[in-house]
Amino acid sequence: MIKVYDGKAVIVDPGQGSGRHKDLKREMRKLSLEIHAQLTTHGHADHVKVAPKIEAPLFAHRFEFSIVESPLNREILTFGSKAPRGFLVSQFEGEVKVHGIFEWNDVIFGLKAIKLNGHSPGMTGFLDEENAVIYAGDSFFGERVLQAVGIPYLVEPELFKDSIKQLQYYVDEGLLLIPSHGKAVKGEEARKLLDFNIKRIEETERRILELLKKPMSLDELAYRLSKYFNVSPTPQMLALNLVPLRAFMAKLYNEGKVEAFLDNGLKWKIRGD
Ligand SMILES: [Zn+2]
Repeated sequence: MIKVYDGKAVIVDPGQGSGRHKDLKREMRKLSLEIHAQLTTHGHADHVKVAPKIEAPLFAHRFEFSIVESPLNREILTFGSKAPRGFLVSQFEGEVKVHGIFEWNDVIFGLKAIKLNGHSPGMTGFLDEENAVIYAGDSFFGERVLQAVGIPYLVEPELFKDSIKQLQYYVDEGLLLIPSHGKAVKGEEARKLLDFNIKRIEETERRILELLKKPMSLDELAYRLSKYFNVSPTPQMLALNLVPLRAFMAKLYNEGKVEAFLDNGLKWKIRGD
């Protein structure tokens, strides 16, 4: 996504793809715009991969700084440690240099950095008041994406929900939301989609508690949830689902709703059963 600021282009989430940096540069040349800066909503590989190929400084939120920079940190965030080669869809080896960091509520290049974390620690939306738009990154997902993955990728379900509530406020203000994975939405359509995201979180939680009436490992739980959401699981998808699932378990554990015990490995069950 492109924001024109002071007669120059600011790229939001440079993205990935072999020809993407060339396409971006060509488009900017057509518009006679010089690329002045790059901003990223968060450090996931698919959002920053081509950044080093574009000759403009890259800015990230303070919490995302080392995730953008280090290939190992990117894998830790989406797998839990070094990941098997080819296991993560957008995995790539290279380092990505970050030239500057920002804080939430900073205004940079005419865009206000909005706290929308939960999907990642420093996930940031960019509010473009002039055009009544928010670049929402991965703070919510399109319906098709949710149906394909079952459990939305997140590292903190409560923060993810809070971010969606924040977005609901902007929808009421009449803003257009542009997610990274899904189409831009506003008004009633946006409200419905945000609601669908919240419902999927709540349904995941309810289903975990239902399934854990029978004690099981997280791997089995991930598998059963994928079946429940009608997803055809692959090893890669289940490995990715384990990250948000662990975050759900932390929440339910802290609320005293589940407990952990050993029975041929680590198992979980609902508390007091
Ligand atoms: Zn992401």
